[in-house]
Amino acid sequence: TIRPKAFLNQPELWRLQLNLPAGAGHKYDRGHAVVFSGPALKTGAARLAANAALRAGAGLVTLLSPPNAILVNASHLTAVMLRKCEGSGDLGEILVDHRFNAFVLGPGFGTGERVRDYARLVLEAGRALVLDADGISAFSDVRNILFDNEKQPSEGEGVRLVLTPHAGEFARLFPDIAEADRLSKLDRARQAAERANAVIVLKGRDTVIASPDGRAVINANGTPWLATAGTGDVLSGIIAAQLAQGMPAFEAAAAGVWMHGRAAELFGPGLTAEELAGQLPRVFVELM
Ligand code: AMP
Ligand code: MG
Repeated sequence: TIRPKAFLNQPELWRLQLNLPAGAGHKYDRGHAVVFSGPALKTGAARLAANAALRAGAGLVTLLSPPNAILVNASHLTAVMLRKCEGSGDLGEILVDHRFNAFVLGPGFGTGERVRDYARLVLEAGRALVLDADGISAFSDVRNILFDNEKQPSEGEGVRLVLTPHAGEFARLFPDIAEADRLSKLDRARQAAERANAVIVLKGRDTVIASPDGRAVINANGTPWLATAGTGDVLSGIIAAQLAQGMPAFEAAAAGVWMHGRAAELFGPGLTAEELAGQLPRVFVELM
């Protein structure tokens, strides 16, 4: 079979679709990203994603918090807004407002039933969703149930789901693909993207970004200093910011991975996840 070529992930591939603030624009033109916080003892990952989304260009960012984590979240947020979300009922009310247009679910969230309910509600409401970390692991026992969702858009409408697994999370969700020794990392990501009807960001060194339509790019920037706690959560926020601004899912993922890697290069040694998004202004200067 003839497969489309894979390219190196370079700004030329998505720069024209990158939304930079211009002229008389206001924050409402730049999208509203939403991040789900985990419970009281596990809130840091979601705040990393939320702060990164703001840095990466979302006009507004809201953190949705379970009641027991409201206080700890409130005491650690400034420009990010906070709202209580206790279950599907609350989320349903939030989804009525169409300005909330891109969601991050998974970092520090826990792997209970709630992940699956929330993911389905967000996708059924037609919003873009970055599913990461626990958001991926939660689907291990019910393989593909999310992807059977009939409301998933057909190819022409554009894919709205981005999955950002590292190798371990990937193996949980796609065990057969992960165990197929003859497949390259590139082909693993491609097969998973096709099966899930989602953009797959298969992370690690040489992250692969694959789309269900067969497009795929290999990312080569970044440094081994990214192998530290929380950097994946920052990535999910950066991608969500591009989705919030209306970038198509494949380009949003490719741009987000590139910006994340470039930010790490600019920071250099001794990187921590908390400081990574602080390099994004310099990344934007290079892209403008
Ligand atoms: P996570 O595993 O979710 O914490 O995400 C880690 C992030 O760091 C991902 O974006 C990986 O692609 C990146 N990363 C991890 N290890 C390396 C490495 N050795 N070289 C480059 N990037 C890495
Ligand atoms: Mg992670």
